[in-house]
Amino acid sequence: MALYVQKFGGTSVGSVERIKAVAEKVKGFRDRGHQVVVVVSAMSGETNRLTDMAQALNEDPAPREMDMLLSTGEQVTISLLAMALQQIGVPATSHTGAQVGIHTDSAYTKARIQRIETDDLKADLEAGQVVVVAGFQGVDEDGNITTLGRGGSDTTGVALAAALGADECQIYTDVDGVYTTDPRVCTKARRLTSITVEEMLELASLGSKVLQIRAVEFAGKYNVPLRVLSSFEDGPGTLIIAEADQDEDTMEEPLISGIAFTKNEAKLTLLNTPDVPGVASRILGPIADANIEVDMIVQNVAPAGDYTDFTFTVAKGDYKATKKLLEETVIPDLGGGDLRGDDNIAKVSLVGVGMRSHAGVASKMFRVLADENINIRMVSTSEIKISVVIDEKHMELAVNALHTAFGLDKSDIESE
Ligand code: ASP
Ligand code: MG
Repeated sequence: MALYVQKFGGTSVGSVERIKAVAEKVKGFRDRGHQVVVVVSAMSGETNRLTDMAQALNEDPAPREMDMLLSTGEQVTISLLAMALQQIGVPATSHTGAQVGIHTDSAYTKARIQRIETDDLKADLEAGQVVVVAGFQGVDEDGNITTLGRGGSDTTGVALAAALGADECQIYTDVDGVYTTDPRVCTKARRLTSITVEEMLELASLGSKVLQIRAVEFAGKYNVPLRVLSSFEDGPGTLIIAEADQDEDTMEEPLISGIAFTKNEAKLTLLNTPDVPGVASRILGPIADANIEVDMIVQNVAPAGDYTDFTFTVAKGDYKATKKLLEETVIPDLGGGDLRGDDNIAKVSLVGVGMRSHAGVASKMFRVLADENINIRMVSTSEIKISVVIDEKHMELAVNALHTAFGLDKSDIESE
């Protein structure tokens, strides 16, 4: 007998039929003798619908009222799911975050969980109940309802699993696991049997949206085995585990676990900036002050040693504002310097803990791109990641060529 925390996202509970299907799935686990805590999101589209209504009435709604409003979405699904379970003979009780005792700080719309009371939940489970909990919400010290930020139900699931010492936290969603890369761009992408927490964090922050980043961090911190799987079809999904818990024999041990990519960035270059101390901070200071996040940074070493080129990337949405800042504030301050900008770029990244122990990943990556005649504009590396910036029009070609070259293609692993 195991204790599972099962989280179902918005599309998984998006209609009455879907809620019925979730109830059947939960019943299946219970029939096999397991204890189940279910965490649900609001029905798909509901949180947006509520947000739109708020905006229509007040352009700057008070965060406390937003949380009061948005928490109702999940309250609808917990009660409906409990009813659906009871209908098929499964004893079930619904609980809001406050009723459970999911205590958070008072940072409305982005609250952090501080403590979860588990005594009542455990008693319900022992009494044979399926416990249904509203995701994404909690209660602060003064009894105000709080929410955890968009996508926060994942975090509720993982936090409950940690607090209850569950055997596994299962995140049911509309994809059947974590893929080596986006199957819409690379048809040979394949589902991973498992992936480490660190790799998952890199892939998530690079733009693959399977799980809320905070939930993965939480799972890593509290060592909660986390599994992503489909609520629409049966299958083992993808297990996300700590690197130390990888089983030597059964784990795939690839150099690279996944390829992430984004067209969401733009590149700016200041040519011929003086090569003296303080320049980088004079360029990036005003940008940081404007709350614009800079991702990659490259400073060239000029042959003469007096001047250098300074290149960096920002989110595409910040491109115009950054350009304006450079033109109006930074360039006049530095004196001279030519500005080049390009918002038709893509960033492609290889991610894998295998990189730690193997040299040559970067050179292989560069060779693959060279063979495809793809020019590399920028490079950055970390312990388990190598990213390159290339022209946007080459992105699909690059992802597919790298996917094949690093042995990630579906057909390469027959045993799966
Ligand atoms: N309903 C919330 C949202 O749409 C929380 C969640 O689904 O995880 O962001
Ligand atoms: Mg979600």
